[in-house]
Amino acid sequence: MIRYQPDKHHPLGPSSWPAWAQCAAYEPDRDDDDVAEDDGSADTYPSEAALRGILQHAAYAALLVQDKPAADAAAQELTEHELEEVHWAVRHTLTLVEETGFSRDDIRVERRVTLFGEDGIEPVYFGTLDVCWGGRCIADAKFGEVRDYFAQLVGYALPLIEAGKTESVDAFVVYARHRRSRRYHIDAETARRVGYGILRKRTAAYSHPTPCEYCGWCRLAASCPAINATVEAVARLRPEVPEWLTLASARNHDIASDPLLAGKARYLWKAFLEKWGAGVEFATRTMALKGTPPVGFSVVKRAGTKKVVNASAAIQACEQLGVPREALDEAISVSFGGLAMAVQRSLGWPKSDAENALVVALRKVGAVQFQPETIMLRAKKGIKEELAAASALPVQQLPRQDEEA
Ligand code: SF4
Repeated sequence: MIRYQPDKHHPLGPSSWPAWAQCAAYEPDRDDDDVAEDDGSADTYPSEAALRGILQHAAYAALLVQDKPAADAAAQELTEHELEEVHWAVRHTLTLVEETGFSRDDIRVERRVTLFGEDGIEPVYFGTLDVCWGGRCIADAKFGEVRDYFAQLVGYALPLIEAGKTESVDAFVVYARHRRSRRYHIDAETARRVGYGILRKRTAAYSHPTPCEYCGWCRLAASCPAINATVEAVARLRPEVPEWLTLASARNHDIASDPLLAGKARYLWKAFLEKWGAGVEFATRTMALKGTPPVGFSVVKRAGTKKVVNASAAIQACEQLGVPREALDEAISVSFGGLAMAVQRSLGWPKSDAENALVVALRKVGAVQFQPETIMLRAKKGIKEELAAASALPVQQLPRQDEEA
């Protein structure tokens, strides 16, 4: 029997289903609702993007049910741009409600759905829907990137269908950032095939790990045999990779909790794999540009990205189109490095003087924001010798990190 806290997410809840549809061995190391809002660029958890998404969800739900105090409280925390996304999501959801033959009064938000086992008492799993209406329509708002959330919607639809509330579900994913939505008609046969398929694979005694787009959020990534085996195989192609530089013989196979294994993994990546990957990328793209794509690959042309080269002229042009100035202030960002370079070059100042003067000037007008400090890891001189020596030590003699410092 699975034990869980009724107010927490269920371990088999639908928010992890998009990942399990790709790799049934995936273990979330965070709330998968946060992953949906995360752009994967941050090294903190919850990432800033995920936190913003949580606030946007709160505003979205409150606005849909016209809960003014809650909507006002959530809106205060959001930037104008974020609030615009929320308002678009609300407007679009209301359109979907109308298009499916219902009205705003039919909307319910943040509703829990539960799939019960054969005894009708013990839940197999439960999850919380963003929005539902009319007993057969559901919607999930996403404020992050566009990903495939079909499996998650199936996870919400299956309990409704199995409870006999409806024979099929019209399900929508509303992608607020990209101003689009995706619609799925989930019938009972599809819900059962996909839903029980994911549950069966996930609860099997052994789930075969399959590298996928969720590896970056997986708690097992640091010790996953699928990932480490790939790394080992690629590294072994290089004759200069020494015998002792192996991840397989490590003491506990967990990069995240073993400083020696972490050092080896990072060294392998930086010294061999990253360079190898960059080399392959360069060589294959060059071949393709010359007209000979690598075997198994086809060339897909993509339009070049557009770059704004004159910020003030661009702002003027948009104002002439009728775009309000506040919206433009939100949209246009200028790099601090670029501005500092302009100060340095045009006034002939040393770099540090230019940067300091710029910080003072921008601070005065409230045009600079200081991001939290981050870290970088620099390889020490003699890293190879240090790793080799540590690898030769019996396990109990490994220096602890605090002793080293
Ligand atoms: S790290 Fe391994 S277990 Fe986790 S998602 Fe990737 S392949 Fe699956």
